[in-house]
Amino acid sequence: MLDFDDAQTRLANGAPLPRATTETPLREAAGLVLARDLTATLDLPPADNSAMDGYALRHADYRPGATLPIDQVVYAGQAPGPLAPGHAARLFTGSLMPPGADTVVMQEDTRVVGDRLEITQAPRAGQHVRRRGEDTAAGSPLLPAGTRIGPAQIALLASQGIASVVVHPAVRVGILTTGDELVAPGQPREAHQIYNSNGAMMAALVEGMGARATQVLHAQDTETALRSAFQKLAQDCDMIVSIGGVSVGDKDLVKPVLESLGAELDLWRVRMKPGKPVAMAHIDGKPVVCLPGNPVSAFAVFTVLVSPLLRRMQGRRDLFPPVSRQRLRTDSPRQDSREEFLRVRLAIDDGGVAGLQPFDRQGSGVVSSLPWATGLARIPAGQTVRDGEMVAYYDFQHWLS
Ligand code: AMP
Ligand code: MG
Repeated sequence: MLDFDDAQTRLANGAPLPRATTETPLREAAGLVLARDLTATLDLPPADNSAMDGYALRHADYRPGATLPIDQVVYAGQAPGPLAPGHAARLFTGSLMPPGADTVVMQEDTRVVGDRLEITQAPRAGQHVRRRGEDTAAGSPLLPAGTRIGPAQIALLASQGIASVVVHPAVRVGILTTGDELVAPGQPREAHQIYNSNGAMMAALVEGMGARATQVLHAQDTETALRSAFQKLAQDCDMIVSIGGVSVGDKDLVKPVLESLGAELDLWRVRMKPGKPVAMAHIDGKPVVCLPGNPVSAFAVFTVLVSPLLRRMQGRRDLFPPVSRQRLRTDSPRQDSREEFLRVRLAIDDGGVAGLQPFDRQGSGVVSSLPWATGLARIPAGQTVRDGEMVAYYDFQHWLS
């Protein structure tokens, strides 16, 4: 049996880095990954400006109790004139500083009498001024290649006037569910059938990470059906995830079918629970990952084993999201001969302390545990973990993004 960490490393290295690039409008870039380092070309802000609604002056002109004539009003978006010595200018948030002015007083700290300004709080020299380039200086690194683009990155790029970016095209993932017992949601179901949850689940997992589930197929447990499904996916997709049919049962035909397609198959029994049978193969250099059929196992194995591989194919640099240490809350000691990933919920107790609450039924068929859980707690193989002890926590928000 293969150790969990070895399996994770092997899978994460199971594909070459992406080479294809495409230029995409910024508006459509969310979820995609930058293919080039980007450097700032603009100072931001482009000129000194006011951080407050208020008045600009030379700090040296301030005297307690004295009043300054107001010689101009500058709205955001207007070009100011120079500030005459001994004068003040009316400004608003984002108004450019008139040449000569160095300090802003907020209007709450002033009184206006006629056209003269009285300052009621002694200002600090330079206060409330946003300096040219203090946010981003022209020439400084903006975002490195490998960054996944989200709303924050889009804000930064737009602030530089960037309207399109060079990205890696979204990874096209083909999903194949298997099993004679399955019927698609929305279809009539016979008593001996169950609904297919893995297809829709896996598509959502893949798309939540910024890839595209371009094909979601289902095959009956026959070699012919499996073979033609794998062939189609290998043609149309960059990566294949199959679910089910990879164990040692009579109808577990994925392995022989992949071999008949010339794929070199690494079948691992990974020392993890849930999950044990996991396989990786390549067809025409494209990775094929085969996951166990139980939806809970498929979900957990995708989270901790497959997501790093997908990140690599996307061109992302951080393949392994953070794993934090959290306190496990458990009624009875936990231990297993395999690495166990408990479905847990991170909850804050009355004292404000975070703890991991395991779902009460940890069977790998218990799908209702998935929407309840916020992540997976890792119980190391062969160790006993008692209530209050610290364990590694894989948060779905990090691992599935
Ligand atoms: P398998 O790995 O094919 O032996 O499947 C293991 C278990 O997961 C069996 O109980 C299957 O019925 C169930 N299963 C497999 N595929 C799916 C699916 N797509 N949706 C729901 N349950 C599934
Ligand atoms: Mg099956």
